[in-house]
Amino acid sequence: MSAEKRSFQAEVSRLLDIVAHSLYSEKEIFLRELISNASDACDRLRYAALTQPELAGDDTNYRVVLSSDKKARQLTVADNGIGMNHDELVENLGTIARSGTAAFMQNLSGDQRKDMALIGQFGVGFYSAFMVAEKVEVLSRKAGETAAWRWVSEGKGEFTVEPAEKEGRGTEITLHLRPEEDEFLERFRLQQIVRKYSDHIALPIAFRESGKEETLNTARALWTRPRSEITAEQYKEFYHHVAHSFDEPWLTLHNRAEGKIEYTNLLFIPGAKPFDLFDPQRKHRVKLYVRRVFITDDCPELLPAYLRFLRGIVDSEDLPLNVSREMLQNNPILARMRGQLTKRVLGELAKKAGESAEEYAKFWENFGAVLKEGLYEDHEQQEALLPLMRFRSTASDGLVSFEDYLGRMKAGQDAIYYITGDSLEAVKKSPQLEGFRARGVEVLLLSDPIDEFWVLAVGKVKDKALKSVTRGGADLSKIAPAEGEAAAAEGDDKKAPANIASLIAIFKLALGEAVKDIRTSDRLTDSAVCLVADEGDRDMHLERLLKAHRQIDTTAKRILEINPRHALVKRLAALIGQDGASDQLGDFAWLLLDQARILEGEALPDPSAFARRMSVLLEKGLPAAA
Ligand code: ADP
Ligand code: MG
Repeated sequence: MSAEKRSFQAEVSRLLDIVAHSLYSEKEIFLRELISNASDACDRLRYAALTQPELAGDDTNYRVVLSSDKKARQLTVADNGIGMNHDELVENLGTIARSGTAAFMQNLSGDQRKDMALIGQFGVGFYSAFMVAEKVEVLSRKAGETAAWRWVSEGKGEFTVEPAEKEGRGTEITLHLRPEEDEFLERFRLQQIVRKYSDHIALPIAFRESGKEETLNTARALWTRPRSEITAEQYKEFYHHVAHSFDEPWLTLHNRAEGKIEYTNLLFIPGAKPFDLFDPQRKHRVKLYVRRVFITDDCPELLPAYLRFLRGIVDSEDLPLNVSREMLQNNPILARMRGQLTKRVLGELAKKAGESAEEYAKFWENFGAVLKEGLYEDHEQQEALLPLMRFRSTASDGLVSFEDYLGRMKAGQDAIYYITGDSLEAVKKSPQLEGFRARGVEVLLLSDPIDEFWVLAVGKVKDKALKSVTRGGADLSKIAPAEGEAAAAEGDDKKAPANIASLIAIFKLALGEAVKDIRTSDRLTDSAVCLVADEGDRDMHLERLLKAHRQIDTTAKRILEINPRHALVKRLAALIGQDGASDQLGDFAWLLLDQARILEGEALPDPSAFARRMSVLLEKGLPAAA
């Protein structure tokens, strides 16, 4: 039977192309990746054998064995883990199933240096073998099956799979090294790499030479060792292994809990944002172990979704080894661990925030938007979460906490004001902020989609209501204007025209059902008009968000607010009573409404009417043609 030929998935081909042609300085990491996979394969079989001991048989001495053939220039990495059958070889070594791959591929720039940095963060796993090998052979036999398969590829778009012979289960990967990569045949060089990157692996990693095996690593699960014996470098390498990402951890949390329940946690907060942070499944990736045996990396009950940026392991002493999926679902031990771990993580974040605002800001920029989800999902932790929140605001360029905000509220101010929008740049320019700025009243600038939801769930912070500046009335009159403003506000040119009520009445008649109400505003200083939502209605940005996601199909009517001190408004008021003024004022009312809609980022219901009115007006303003 001849070998079956297949093509790599397009993404893999592109990745292989970059990997093979890169001048990546740390080629040695290919070994870390192969050992990491071998260790995962052993973990998975060890777990499967808890319920199906026949899968492992009497070979329970899980290990990874390296060996080299200098003449043939071949390096082999063998394990007695779970192995792969035909379909798994094709699927696992021909495609990239990792979440975030699409986003990753999009980020590739074609600039080799930049792309390598990105790959360093993403990790290329198995495919990194092609950095040093011109041909890779994978011989594998799945535990519990008798057939073995050989996968072969030169990393150039295609691979072959054919039936083969293999004694015992597991996977044996043979690298046909490129001529310039001979160093990876030497025992001392391999040992150096194992010590550097793979010492934390709990399995023995041995080198076999002339029939003898020598263990190269410490072979004890890293988290079982005392903290004082673990170097920062070792923690980092473990993080790389367990998180499949290659940045520096921002925080390392290694603890042993010894109370009613016992467990060890070795958790990390990444230093860079993972690609799949906003994957709709919102899964965390912390691995659950029971007494050193890997159980699962898919256990939603272990941690809340709003802590899904965590990576690492939790090793329980109390759960039964043969714990099933169903048992994990309503398990009181797990629920307890979840509570304690959540508390510990939040406590540690509070500590970090207190120690250095600058360091904390790095965490916040990466994961703040995720942590905010906890405000509406986890009522119990709301009090602990609120002090961890940070915001942009009108008061400074840096990040602001609720404590900062509350500490500088104005006399007479009884609410925490915020504005929501699609981006920081957009919300900063909102006309609704003008009056607040003029009075020196700080407004929180919220631009994460999640913001719309937690503000509603939280409602109040330290008895101060959270209030959107684009909804309801703004009783800024109770708040003293900022210094310098007071005098100016009294000046003649800042007074509202006496007949403003008539102007509003004319506008109301013209606009009819298009608006809910028209009223004068405290909110504006430089702009003539703005839109706001009525007190009981949804926030305007929230409505746009819901509409975009087809959650609602009609929006509530807005209130048009007019700045009575604006020169344009005054001149319009002055027109009242003149011949033909009402028709003209009607057109102005529509133009002002459309202008407010544009500022708000809303679509115009009738763009052609807007264009027509605008043209008429422009024409009037110009000298007649000769
Ligand atoms: P990752 O380890 O991040 O999943 P890799 O590219 O390193 O990505 O490996 C791809 C997949 O190939 C693994 O998820 C695993 O299913 C399979 N695999 C790789 N090496 C082995 C091995 N030695 N034994 C069993 N399966 C393996
Ligand atoms: Mg891997």
